Amino acid sequence: MMPFIDLQRQYQKYKDEIHAQMETVLNASAYIMGPKMKELEETLSGYVGVKHALAVSSGTDALLISLMALGIKAGDEVITSAFSFFASCEVISFLNAKPVFVDIDPVTYNINPDQIESKITKNTKAIMPVSLYGQCADFEKINSIGRKYDLPVIEDACQSFGATCAKGRSCGLSSLGCTSFFPSKPLGCYGDGGMIFTNDSSLAEKMYMIRAHGQKERYRHDCIGVNGRLDALQAAVLLGKWPHFEEEVRLRNQLGQELKEELKKIMGVIVPETASGNSHVYAQFSIQVESRDAFAASLQKMGVPTAVHYPVPLPFQPVYESMGFKKGDFPVSEDVAGRIISLPFHPFLTQEERHFIVSCVQQALSLV
Ligand SMILES: *Cc1c(COP(=O)(O)O)cnc(C)c1O
Repeated sequence: MMPFIDLQRQYQKYKDEIHAQMETVLNASAYIMGPKMKELEETLSGYVGVKHALAVSSGTDALLISLMALGIKAGDEVITSAFSFFASCEVISFLNAKPVFVDIDPVTYNINPDQIESKITKNTKAIMPVSLYGQCADFEKINSIGRKYDLPVIEDACQSFGATCAKGRSCGLSSLGCTSFFPSKPLGCYGDGGMIFTNDSSLAEKMYMIRAHGQKERYRHDCIGVNGRLDALQAAVLLGKWPHFEEEVRLRNQLGQELKEELKKIMGVIVPETASGNSHVYAQFSIQVESRDAFAASLQKMGVPTAVHYPVPLPFQPVYESMGFKKGDFPVSEDVAGRIISLPFHPFLTQEERHFIVSCVQQALSLV
């Protein structure tokens, strides 16, 4: 079985640099935050082009700390996409606020910006679009709605670090950008990690406090926070990988494009499309097919692993049953959730592997 995402190949390539960075941390015995974390924050804020970057313990905590800094509380509403990983709405519910779901665009799988305005009420406190699979949501339109109603816009950029759109780089497109360094994300560490980006200095100051138990100085707690710090060894792993990131993004673009062109020729495959002005980092390379389960089973037999991101739209998760959504409330999300399937993809995919995937897809489709 070929790997779904080949982290081993990446590790073998960058091993010496990663080890050297980790050794610095081990020799200094500074494991929590510390100089490596600061170096990472400065490096990535420069790359994204924003004033502040806060390294945090995960993508989920990045979203949570952002919402806490905005003062989101019980009774507030936050508008988000109906089709994403659960963390996107979980953090809203965790603060006892209400996720207000909006259906997606059938081509980009991102929140449909034309359906946002009708969901705004007097309780709406923020808009949180997701840049799903590695392509930015339509921030031109979403930011203009944000401006019109004076609502902050938080980008859930957990899958899109490295992607660009006409406005600039993912994470620097709106009030706040949150990404994840989960190992399989475009920029992954060797454990959990994440980062928050913003140009808003007063929000940044609040978030620094929230990240460390609401402390401005040691043992003086000005607000309720969390333990949301990134540990120094993860920062070291990321710094070891960083010199190669731009090349990886370039490879992701190129390999994704090539894979797409080959799959396009096969009847019955809907390939991922990139909106004009966008670049795609293919955190997931996801296609749509009929009879997905049989298709996945055939691929599995041929040695090609697949995954489904995501089989159930967020409003239909059991935990939200009491919200009372009905079949047909989010038609595009429901349709996509029934047919989407992700293929193995990473920047080190060889031409042979790519051809193997394509021929297996063709074969599997002729079998279903
Ligand atoms: C991965 C992911 C998250 C959560 O990130 P973690 O680092 O795993 O906590 C949130 N939103 C989306 C869209 C994700 O893909």
